[in-house]
Amino acid sequence: MRFTDEHHQLRKTVREVIEKEINPCYDEWENGDGFPAHQVFGKLGKLGLLGINKPEKFGGMGLDYSYQLVMDEELGAIAGGSIGMAIGVQTSMATPALARWGEEELKAEFLAPAIAGEHVTAIAVSEVSGGSDVAALKTTARKDGGDYVINGSKMWITNASQADWFCLLANTSEGSPHANKSLIIVPAKTKGVTVGAKLDKLGMRASDTCPVYFEDVRVPQRHRIGQEGMGFMLQMMQFQEERLFGAASSLKGMEKVIAATIAYCKDRHTFGQPLIDNQVIHFRFAELQTEIESLRSLVYRAAEEHVAGKDVTMLASMAKLKAGRLVREVSDACLQYWGGMGYMWDNPASRSFRDSRLLSIGGGADEIMLGIICKLMGILPGKRKKTP
Ligand SMILES: Cc1cc2nc3c(=O)[nH]c(=O)nc-3n(C[C@H](O)[C@H](O)[C@H](O)COP(=O)(O)OP(=O)(O)OC[C@H]3O[C@@H](n4cnc5c(N)ncnc54)[C@H](O)[C@@H]3O)c2cc1C
Repeated sequence: MRFTDEHHQLRKTVREVIEKEINPCYDEWENGDGFPAHQVFGKLGKLGLLGINKPEKFGGMGLDYSYQLVMDEELGAIAGGSIGMAIGVQTSMATPALARWGEEELKAEFLAPAIAGEHVTAIAVSEVSGGSDVAALKTTARKDGGDYVINGSKMWITNASQADWFCLLANTSEGSPHANKSLIIVPAKTKGVTVGAKLDKLGMRASDTCPVYFEDVRVPQRHRIGQEGMGFMLQMMQFQEERLFGAASSLKGMEKVIAATIAYCKDRHTFGQPLIDNQVIHFRFAELQTEIESLRSLVYRAAEEHVAGKDVTMLASMAKLKAGRLVREVSDACLQYWGGMGYMWDNPASRSFRDSRLLSIGGGADEIMLGIICKLMGILPGKRKKTP
């Protein structure tokens, strides 16, 4: 990955908006009712940051994915995980399929306002009966005249209480669970859509996550993204940018908590010396930083291949798996070195510990990543490559 002056300039823009518009309010939003998505997205939209790799025709910058990667990495500089995640939902989870496979009219109606930051978006795949087994989801969208009539519910939907529309995955026919689904844009204000109360989460507490219920919700069939029955495949492809986002946005957050913990360990003395002078501690930081750099290399390589138009399912799954595990390791190690202070709610390692736990669960749990990697390695039982 060779970054140009344009990449550096973009990084600076993202950093400035975080320092000016997000970090000063972060604690208040986390300890209050959550962050105001329209206000924050409006500011990001004006700077073009919600459409970096989206088509210029709909207000995007039309740049390649390496620029989106720079933004994702920089989002790790936000004081906690919630807002980066909410932004990631907008740029890398709810809109990639629409941008790539949506009809022009659909993009004008829904993608353009999302890029401008006027609309807040959400991705609605998981259901209370299970998020890992996407093919088994139960929500249906039955054809009636020119409409779909949607019934079912979705669970743990990020941005839901503020969303203007949902990118919904539903069964549009009977038959093979991999070929009977479609992605459909459902405006939140449509009759029959109800957003449930905010869920009380362990971490990511500045963002809203809610159940969403669909009862005889009628939307025109033209709200479907791509061909009918292709939704499972399109969502699997859309997941690749979600997983790369998860890995890329974890890097700076880890470095930030390590830096804060190093500063504390230089200051804090036990047995007549600073904590940092214990070899077991300074070696641990060196180990963790080495792991972060290895992850960064993997993420950059995956991004490069994505830019080149290659299938990055393997690399994105590996990056997500590694990131999910490493953020847990880093936040746990750092929390330990803060001692009792680390166990306090407002401590940076404590927030990182709470927020980072999600990465091994959301967007495909670690075990799902391992299953994908095994499948591609040809060692998943029942899917082994035939030996010659
Ligand atoms: C804060 C938060 C935000 C979220 N945001 C969204 C969102 O915006 N949109 C959305 O659609 N979803 C969202 N999710 C849902 C998330 O993607 C799911 O929670 C996740 O996919 C796991 O699904 P599940 O919780 O139903 O776990 P299950 O599918 O019930 O699995 C439970 C656990 O079992 C293990 N497991 C599962 N399958 C296997 C297997 N084959 N082999 C071995 N182990 C296995 C894994 O460890 C997994 O964590 C969010 C979740 C949270 C907590």
